[in-house]
Amino acid sequence: MNARWCLLLLMYLSCSVWGIACAEPDSDSRSTEPSSETQARTGTARQANAAFSAQRAFALLEKQCAFGPRPPGSAAHRETRDYLFAELQKYANSAALQPLEYKVGTETLHLNNILAEFGPGLPPVTGKGQNGETLLLAAHWDTRPIADHDPKPENRDQPILGANDGASGVAVLLELARVFKAHPPPRRVVIVLFDGEDYGRTADDMFIGSRFFAQNLGKWKPDYGILLDMVGDKDLTLPIEANSWNANQAFTAAIWQRAAALGLAPFQQRLGPAIMDDHVPLINAGIPMVDIIDFDYPYWHTVEDTVDKCSPKSLEVVATLVISIVYDGL
Ligand SMILES: [Zn+2]
Repeated sequence: MNARWCLLLLMYLSCSVWGIACAEPDSDSRSTEPSSETQARTGTARQANAAFSAQRAFALLEKQCAFGPRPPGSAAHRETRDYLFAELQKYANSAALQPLEYKVGTETLHLNNILAEFGPGLPPVTGKGQNGETLLLAAHWDTRPIADHDPKPENRDQPILGANDGASGVAVLLELARVFKAHPPPRRVVIVLFDGEDYGRTADDMFIGSRFFAQNLGKWKPDYGILLDMVGDKDLTLPIEANSWNANQAFTAAIWQRAAALGLAPFQQRLGPAIMDDHVPLINAGIPMVDIIDFDYPYWHTVEDTVDKCSPKSLEVVATLVISIVYDGL
């Protein structure tokens, strides 16, 4: 119940009440309608792009990896949760943990989605003007407990470091959080870092945090969302993810067309594979959601998914697209 309570507070109650309950309140951006002062302080895509630091984003990827592999149940998992939550509290209007328990066999996993809210505050109850729109930005912060695709059999029961599969998407969103604080977006943005994405041997015990999040939305729904997963590969290729396309073609096309308009070459205007990922539970809950993912990554689910396979430039390319959508809309 605690998880639902916290989430309902996030979605429905005043930010000040929620701020006391879950995070340090920020006295700005409290009203339902943005004040003229808030609008005057709204940032632009140009400002946000100038503020986004690829090197800082890459350092955030390295920082997560410095905790070691971060599978549920490990000390590194708990330390990373505390670190990520503290970072988001620095920058967000408000931030919250969404705890959940998940039973696998005789074991109970203690998981947390991490949420943070930015922009002009709660949307109007009725109508969807520009400022009533809410954009969800997502990534998973846990890492896989088993390197089951490692070419060496002796490595396959080892946990992965998850530099790309885990840390890369989170690194982009953490650096964006800092940018959003400095240059508030003109629309409400909710960042959610999902836990338990990469846990199980089969899909039955994966996407645990995102399924819980999707099942506990209540009446609140973001208007649309973007999932970042495996976006740090030095050799970045981002075809259109097929589950996103099949669910919402016009929306998905608009995202990739924006990437083309921005000249972001890694985004390829062709259909790639269908990936089971955290966007699927949200799509099933009726939220248009794209998965930006480079699945052409030879180190996927191996002990070789390490920092040296990733690059600041790749993180920046993805951030440039997200910034355009956050500040200029679709
Ligand atoms: Zn994975």
